[in-house]
Amino acid sequence: MAAETQLSDTQRELTKAEQDVDQVRQRAARNQKLLDSGSVGSAKDLTNLQHEVGSLAKRQSDLEDVVLEIMERVESGQTRVSEMTARRDEAERSVKEAEERRDTSYGSIDAEVEKITRDREILAEAIPADLMKLYIRLRTQNAGIGAARLFQRRCEGCRVELSITDLGAVRAAAADEVVRCENCGRILVRTSESGL
Ligand SMILES: [Zn+2]
Repeated sequence: MAAETQLSDTQRELTKAEQDVDQVRQRAARNQKLLDSGSVGSAKDLTNLQHEVGSLAKRQSDLEDVVLEIMERVESGQTRVSEMTARRDEAERSVKEAEERRDTSYGSIDAEVEKITRDREILAEAIPADLMKLYIRLRTQNAGIGAARLFQRRCEGCRVELSITDLGAVRAAAADEVVRCENCGRILVRTSESGL
């Protein structure tokens, strides 16, 4: 936008400079016509007129240089505008592509959430009501995670490694007993990788 504003300012400047040249040119033409007509009687007037024709020619040449200089600026302004436009278009394309990827991701995330929710409902039905109640309470207390895997002697909920004593207690517990992390209180899920 800044490049476009600058370009239109320079184009306005060019129009103005071209008008200046035109005015001088017209005036010089009028004077020349007057000279050619032979109607200027006095020598003094004739000298003045010739003098003015000369200085108008110089002025016209100066103004034409100004016009050329502005034209160069208009050209580089146009180049800059097209460069910026190309860059903007490129950026807009990138945004559009990213949005499309995002929407595709949304789609697959939604599908995944739907599937996980269905799977969870099926699993939840098989879990005793009191255990479910405990799990929901722990989940509320522990940032959405009520149960964590015990992995290589470490609670994956709070990342704290179980003490020898606590490990011993977990080891001694029956397979269907609910064991919990002494540190965070979450239900510990035992697997073959628990390090027991
Ligand atoms: Zn823990």
